[in-house]
Amino acid sequence: MTNATLSETTRLALPSDQEASGRTLGDEEIALAAEAIRSGTLTSTKGTFVKRLERRFAELLGVRHAWACASGTAAVHTAVAALDPEPGDEIITSPITDMGALAPILYQGAIPVFADVDPHTLNVTAATIEARLSPRTRAIMVTHLFGNPCDMDAILALAHARDIAVIEDCAQAFGARYDGRPVGTLGAVASFSLQQGKHVTTGEGGLVATNDDALARRMVLFINKAWGYGDPQPDHYFLALNYRMSELHGAVAVAQLPKLDAVVQSRITTAARLTERLRGLRGIVTPRMSPRSVHTYWKYCLQVDGGCVAGGAVELGRRLKERGIASSPRYIQKPAFMCEVFQKQRTFGTSRYPFTLARPEAVDYDRARFPGTFAGLEEVLVLPWTERYTDEHVDYIADSVREAVGRLTR
Ligand SMILES: *Cc1c(COP(=O)(O)O)cnc(C)c1O
Repeated sequence: MTNATLSETTRLALPSDQEASGRTLGDEEIALAAEAIRSGTLTSTKGTFVKRLERRFAELLGVRHAWACASGTAAVHTAVAALDPEPGDEIITSPITDMGALAPILYQGAIPVFADVDPHTLNVTAATIEARLSPRTRAIMVTHLFGNPCDMDAILALAHARDIAVIEDCAQAFGARYDGRPVGTLGAVASFSLQQGKHVTTGEGGLVATNDDALARRMVLFINKAWGYGDPQPDHYFLALNYRMSELHGAVAVAQLPKLDAVVQSRITTAARLTERLRGLRGIVTPRMSPRSVHTYWKYCLQVDGGCVAGGAVELGRRLKERGIASSPRYIQKPAFMCEVFQKQRTFGTSRYPFTLARPEAVDYDRARFPGTFAGLEEVLVLPWTERYTDEHVDYIADSVREAVGRLTR
């Protein structure tokens, strides 16, 4: 009955960031990729595209150094390795993030210590981070989730007072700003991802950025098996991997970068339209951000009040799917520490290293310690977003949400 009415309504196919309809890939990428292939040089150690990408990204961000690498995960690993933590050192981070932001900490022998999040933004805060500080805290990794900057002033003050480095994971936050400054320039180092679904893409790829010359040096070495290219007597100076980006990816990224500004502007404009169209809808809270922040909408995240909307985010997600809108209730489903790698400490053989070095509190994943995380995930409904959405797409989403919520309102 209700469902019949819904399916009778014309379904609009939404652009998807998983294929051409939702991506800004075109002749520029094709031309440069072809140029890379014709050159016959596909490695960045000899080619020019990756170097161009690194220079342009550093300029765009306004930092001294940027390096390209193989993935966002590799970028996080490179950032962590640059800080060279001792085994068992702690890196405070968010339980609502991509596993690619956490696995590198363990690979580097350090312990991810999870801070709770603000249930409204799902971002870590100075207060939740402070509650996890210990004498072993080596760094703080903030994730600007969905493109919404963390409250950096308070976090940086906390970190600076204790001489702790801040890593910004900007995988979801290209173009985002805090107090007018681009995210990725606020901490000691920043990582970005060029994965298929990110603001700009090469399918797979990553970038790191810093203003610190010594960290920059360590990072470029880490990406290159720590081989001192160009040094008078190069050697493999320390343990490191080949995380290089290929010239093919570099070529595509060079073509993508000039499009970033328009991509970001489009996402902001269409997101603002949806926010406007959903204004006053009972049981639905649109994204909250600080007036100091520019949110660049990697995704558009709604909060659904289950006390108001029967079945909450899960049921609303089901109703939207019937109209061809593929949302994700609960985003990553569960906090990262609920995954087996943390629960069962499955790492290297049966050793459980580096968890064996951890203080008990550092690996205490008791639910009561994460009220904001569990409450936030319960209510969240993540809508896919792309720069290719038009007003028509946004209005279709808004109408679909309004109609579904109208039917579900208690
Ligand atoms: C996508 C993402 C990563 C990992 O990037 P990959 O390119 O997929 O390896 C890390 N952190 C966050 C917050 C991400 O969204």
